[in-house]
Amino acid sequence: MSYTYVTVPAGGKIAMGSDGKLNVPDNPIIPYIEGDGTGVDIWKASVRVFDAAVEKAYGGKKKISWMEVYAGEKPFNMFRQEMGDKAWLPDETVAAFKEFLVGIKGPLTTPIGGGIRSLNVALRQLLDLYVCLRPVRYFQGVPSPVKKPEDVDMVIFRENCEDIYVGIEWMNGTPDCERVKEFLIKDMGVSKIRFPESSSIGIKPISRDGSERLIRAAIEYALKHKRKSVTIVHKGNIMKFTEGAFKDWGYELARREFRSRIVCERESWIIDNKDRNESLTVEENARMIDPGYDMMTPNQRADICSEVEEALKLMPSHGYGQWKKLLMIRDTIADITLQQVLTRAKEFDVLACMNLEGDFLSDALAAQVGGIGIAPGANINYVTGHAIFEATHGTAPKYANLDKVNPGSVILSGVMMLEHMGWQEAADMIVKSIDRTIGQKRVTYDFERMMQGAILLTCSGFADALIENMK
Ligand code: NAP
Repeated sequence: MSYTYVTVPAGGKIAMGSDGKLNVPDNPIIPYIEGDGTGVDIWKASVRVFDAAVEKAYGGKKKISWMEVYAGEKPFNMFRQEMGDKAWLPDETVAAFKEFLVGIKGPLTTPIGGGIRSLNVALRQLLDLYVCLRPVRYFQGVPSPVKKPEDVDMVIFRENCEDIYVGIEWMNGTPDCERVKEFLIKDMGVSKIRFPESSSIGIKPISRDGSERLIRAAIEYALKHKRKSVTIVHKGNIMKFTEGAFKDWGYELARREFRSRIVCERESWIIDNKDRNESLTVEENARMIDPGYDMMTPNQRADICSEVEEALKLMPSHGYGQWKKLLMIRDTIADITLQQVLTRAKEFDVLACMNLEGDFLSDALAAQVGGIGIAPGANINYVTGHAIFEATHGTAPKYANLDKVNPGSVILSGVMMLEHMGWQEAADMIVKSIDRTIGQKRVTYDFERMMQGAILLTCSGFADALIENMK
């Protein structure tokens, strides 16, 4: 593809192999969006850290060829005469991410009153980046509002393309909204809309395809990174056919595609009961996993008994303690999850969530380990290999061009990108250096104001310290 505004540097192209693994040359071309507001300072600092880590880790054998692509205020100011609203996100930018597969971006202004709702959302949708990946871990010394932030080491897989967030909704009073309400009430017999005259309506699509690809990605990640569990988060007790189906489809997929490598939580109870007492009957086992068993109807009891029988078929491969070495698949209700990630953080590892709950959990967990300045993220399509790594904070315009803010979010997003490319050594080098630098209490303003005896660094100064601490 030829570009008009983008200058393609010398270098190789990352491609998706037929085995589903990325082929990464030693000099990959990586498109980047600098970002608006503080994005400019942050990118300048971050790119120096990435280059230094790659140089140190591979002694010059590998090097990233950075290629600037445009989105946000910068192209809007440069190209708005020719492109109008399109200048916020020129077609070439999307084409470059499509062609070069892996890219990184700083924060972008959300255009107000423009033709595009959010540039981030647009990029996710145009490239079908169905996983929003948010690892959340603690760096020793970072000020935190909780007592044991070091217990947090979780990875959130948040679904990116479905749920209430896709914006299928109608404002009360509009003709479209009235048509939808009429259809619901008259054709579908819906009688539960409490105030039909003043209700806006939103629709929440959750599909088997969308749920499966998200949960598959979470399980594959957990297996690859030797994680202990994948927790499917949902509100299926209330929304049975959307949130409940997400959970059910997740369990079905786990059993169908990963049977020998996973155990579902209830199966583990059944197998463990049998391991402990060889002569346990099916009914006794059923009573142990469901204490309400004796109050159930005969049909409900039969269901539990057949669940026990099914799980006991796994004894040869999963019994006698073998299940303890396998990846645990479990589920939790969303509201209790938000409590327990605070009170029992150690019990959570990889989390698979729909869009809305994933959003709440990502931000709540980021706060637990020190907040927005160091929370990284990525949007990934694991099938095509397309991935954009990004800061999770906004453009913080009041700090623009002050060389002040924490570049940690973009730097850690770059760490995720290096890991995604298989450049683990460079990624590890940056993480260790962040550990060391924060350990030395050399931090930007956001941490300094909450730490005793800290040394205040600028955005670029923090990058210098990271580079100095790479050993
Ligand atoms: P924001 O830019 O995230 O800033 C909110 C506050 O977060 C800042 O005032 C600052 O807190 C803290 N903060 C943000 N970045 C930081 C950093 N690098 N280091 C340390 N602290 C940092 O949110 P906003 O002001 O609501 O949004 C501004 C613009 O960004 C809007 O146009 C919004 O649409 C856009 N946005 C973009 C993205 C994205 O591109 N991914 C995400 C969110 C928002 P203190 O004031 O306490 O210092």
